[in-house]
Amino acid sequence: MSGSVKVSMKRIFSGAQPTGNIHLGNYLGALRNWVELQHEYESIFCIVNLHAITLPQDPQLLANKTRDLARIYLAAGIDPKISVVFIQSDVPEHAELAWILNCVTRISELERMTQFKDKAGKQRESVGAGLLNYPVLMASDILLYQTDLVPVGHDQKQHLELTRDLAVRFNRDHGETFRVPEPFISKVGAKIMSLGDATKKMSKSDENASGSITLLDDADTVRRKFKRAVTDSGTDIRFDDARPAITNLLTIYQLLTGKEFADVEANFAGKGYAALKSELADVTIEFLRPLQERIHGYSDAELDRLFDAGRVRAQEIARTTLDDVKARLGLVGAQARGA
Ligand code: ATP
Ligand code: MG
Repeated sequence: MSGSVKVSMKRIFSGAQPTGNIHLGNYLGALRNWVELQHEYESIFCIVNLHAITLPQDPQLLANKTRDLARIYLAAGIDPKISVVFIQSDVPEHAELAWILNCVTRISELERMTQFKDKAGKQRESVGAGLLNYPVLMASDILLYQTDLVPVGHDQKQHLELTRDLAVRFNRDHGETFRVPEPFISKVGAKIMSLGDATKKMSKSDENASGSITLLDDADTVRRKFKRAVTDSGTDIRFDDARPAITNLLTIYQLLTGKEFADVEANFAGKGYAALKSELADVTIEFLRPLQERIHGYSDAELDRLFDAGRVRAQEIARTTLDDVKARLGLVGAQARGA
């Protein structure tokens, strides 16, 4: 990495949790944009395993999923020569800044978060405090890297707003410390809906596995899931907010083919839902095939090198921000004494 050129570039930061199976929503809402933006921005992509443990995880599975997710990042087009990829728990500054920002965040701000309400559900009083504090850890992830732009799906918009509020509040009280990041949320594809329920987003944590097309699904599975996908009443196939299930299928088709809205609608004019589902399955299978072939092409040793280099670069930036934060708060420990 040629330092002098990179330093002047604006920076993006984003991440995904190594839980469940990465699906088309994650790809179309987030990963796809990371791959594009990495050429214009200094790019840092994290595997947010500390976020994953806000809900119970099997330790061995979590470890395996961490590597699987890195393989998916690479297979989807993240270029390790220009982007940093690292594991969140390798850089303890994330947890340290999260504690500090917890002291700046109001409980009422966290209780308002729709993701907390959705994920806590009826167990609101008994879920771990980590689930409530999740957005504070996310704010720490972003602010540690003096991030300019955060490419995420629509579901993370509210968390990004909190991140900005915390940065502004901290800067106001303690002097200019954090860059205030902007969200990058695509106009199309930022909220891919479940195939089983078009009022819910496609989610890794959805217990209904047939609601998501995962990036590892084989051709038969893709066909079966689209075949069973819910549709709306009516027969014509066009984008229409009042018909969210069909609009969702058309959106996936549009993004995977790169066609314009009008061309997509023209393609399906006079055809039935069965044709839409079958053509959608075809383009999805064709899209997934090369990606799936690449996924197995990365050795464990290669991933170790990626994670080690990523940790070193990430920590270098994170340390600088955290040292500044601590100094501003009067947290004078060994580092301030020069020890
Ligand atoms: P979980 O249910 O465990 O929270 P998830 O599917 O929401 O899983 P995350 O790892 O939390 O996945 O999110 C990774 C990225 O994918 C985030 O930027 C998020 O906004 C984006 N994303 C998640 N679901 C969708 C979706 N249905 N459509 C578009 N983007 C999505
Ligand atoms: Mg999520």
